[in-house]
Amino acid sequence: MTATFSPSSTSESAVQRFASGIRGQVIQPGDDAYDEVRKVYNAMHDRRPKLIVRPANATDVATTVAFAGDAGLPFSVRGGGHNVTGFGTNDGGIVLDLSSMRNIQVNPRNKSAWVEGGATWGDVDRATHEFGLATPSGVISTTGVGGLTLGGGFGYLTRRYGLTSDNLRSANVVTADGRLVTASASENPDLFWALRGGGGNFGVVTSFQFNLHPVDTIFGGPIFYPADRAGDVMRFYRDFIAEAPPEMSAFFGFHIAPPAPFVPEHLHGAIACAIVVCWTGPLDQAEAAVKPIREAAPVALDLMGEMPYPALNSLFDALLPAGLQHYWKADFDRELTDAAIAVHEEYGPRVPNFLSLMHLYPLNGAVQNVAAGDTAFSYRDVKFVHIIAGIDTEAANMPAHTAWVRDYWSALRPHSAGGAYVNFLMDEGQDRIKATYRDNYARLAATKRTWDPNNLFRMNQNVVPA
Ligand code: FAD
Repeated sequence: MTATFSPSSTSESAVQRFASGIRGQVIQPGDDAYDEVRKVYNAMHDRRPKLIVRPANATDVATTVAFAGDAGLPFSVRGGGHNVTGFGTNDGGIVLDLSSMRNIQVNPRNKSAWVEGGATWGDVDRATHEFGLATPSGVISTTGVGGLTLGGGFGYLTRRYGLTSDNLRSANVVTADGRLVTASASENPDLFWALRGGGGNFGVVTSFQFNLHPVDTIFGGPIFYPADRAGDVMRFYRDFIAEAPPEMSAFFGFHIAPPAPFVPEHLHGAIACAIVVCWTGPLDQAEAAVKPIREAAPVALDLMGEMPYPALNSLFDALLPAGLQHYWKADFDRELTDAAIAVHEEYGPRVPNFLSLMHLYPLNGAVQNVAAGDTAFSYRDVKFVHIIAGIDTEAANMPAHTAWVRDYWSALRPHSAGGAYVNFLMDEGQDRIKATYRDNYARLAATKRTWDPNNLFRMNQNVVPA
């Protein structure tokens, strides 16, 4: 399929001609929906695009890509809108908001699902759980499938089943020249390689096909310890997760206990460290599997229990709604050394409010069954990834949170592996992007030259065409 629409300018008449060819919606400044639709997850990005297109189907996507290519305006592709750098919006340009394309088709026979490019992980969880199946995603269900998958994607099922992008079987993509192509191991394999970690650089994915795995009721949730035992808990966590079977997932975090209904009142506002667990093995083995976690240090609050997998994946959604201010810094970690733990002990308990956090996710297990050059995601030789996030309702509080994030991150730098997860990067420049892709960057740049030589898709952690 090739989009044939080709306006000569962005004049009013050209925009009208474009809009009349769209089956979905075209929203402009002054329209009732405009102020709501222009918002992205991170409220720091208060932008005013010229046009926001909500496509009805892949043809609308192709028409919009062709229009954007001719218009020469900034062009943002938005999946779930969660990217904290604000790639899902711009000033004065075109936004393709895929939230209008969220259909999901599950095929339990061949254990796969086709997921449209604007779906969230909550949409996917609901659809696949009907069949007792799931695919690896993140730890918050409102995140978009599009951005998370294209950057790699890790969460509760990753130690057992790999990155989200490792579970991508095939994808339908509208390319920069407005064609709809399929990328898989057998069709356009260079594009398929680049989509698995290379971000939104290579086209608009209108639908993803994922492998599904038998995951139904799990045993998990958070367990909290006093912050002054963080060193003991982190040393325990490091050794435990190194040896744990793939059915065990657990990440470590620093938090201030929120005034949430599931937290007893006497703990509201207490600084704590936590391990968040997801055991997907046999339920009758769960208590034994988590026993060492319960014995790591005196427990302040234990909220672990049996629950449907989608319940765990959405457990923290309400604590991090859209519309907050976010500033993040992150890096990969080869090891969690005692020296790095000493840094965490110093900065972690200074977490400034109950929204801000430090999380340390495991990247061992199935992630390391794939070679670094097999997909664009290069960092398969590290054990952890850490993220430090300053988050607040008020912009005025952000300078202090940003300082905490930067100081903490800088102190950890000497202990970090060098690059950062592409989906946790903010606007940090080409050197950081290259450090993240390492040996895969040159191949990504060559693939970019093939599929997007004019860099139409550049509102992302940009790979510059070779
Ligand atoms: P968007 O802002 O819509 O898009 C991000 C980028 O992807 C843009 O460059 C966009 O152009 C591109 N893109 C999106 N959809 C498409 C598409 N269909 N076709 C082509 N390009 C597309 N990541 C993890 O791996 N694990 C986690 O557990 C995790 N937890 C998170 C929790 C929160 C609260 C937040 C805010 C983020 C989390 N992330 C996590 C990071 C997340 O992966 C990124 O923010 C990701 O960019 C979100 O994808 P999105 O589609 O929602 O974002």
